[in-house]
Amino acid sequence: MIPDPKPDTRFAVVEDLLLLWNNVKLELVKIQATAAPLLESERALRDQIMGLAFPMLTEECRKYMEANDTDDHAPSCTCGKEGTNTLKLPAKFQLKGTIKIDRKVDEAALEASKKALQDLQFNPDTVFRVKTELEVKAYKALPKEARKVVDQALIIKPAAPTLEIVGPKE
Ligand SMILES: [Zn+2]
Repeated sequence: MIPDPKPDTRFAVVEDLLLLWNNVKLELVKIQATAAPLLESERALRDQIMGLAFPMLTEECRKYMEANDTDDHAPSCTCGKEGTNTLKLPAKFQLKGTIKIDRKVDEAALEASKKALQDLQFNPDTVFRVKTELEVKAYKALPKEARKVVDQALIIKPAAPTLEIVGPKE
């Protein structure tokens, strides 16, 4: 049996905090376990209320579409709309339900879509925005002088660190 090497001297400085930190993390895990089913119920009820109060497609519109073989909504459409919808509640209260729709660009289909848009005489650059991101590996490989130039276009701040206590290997 090999005796344990002496712990790093920095251990003495962080020992108490490590214990506190670990306890808080354990508490968090407990709370998260308790909260998980509640979060699930809340989401399910929210979806159910939204579907009833602000349905994306009312029975009326569904029938209108079927009868007219169209994907346009009925002129008297009361379907929930993307954005904020309001339902009057008793005593001047209001239920505000916001319908949100995620629209992510499918990179694999992007070029074909741009081309088809151009064929329809629309400028794809007004619809698809190009976001500039830093290529961190190339940035770090730059010589200091060039990196400083790039830094002028960056807002640099530390992000939350990660910490982990790793047990001994078996
Ligand atoms: Zn409708």
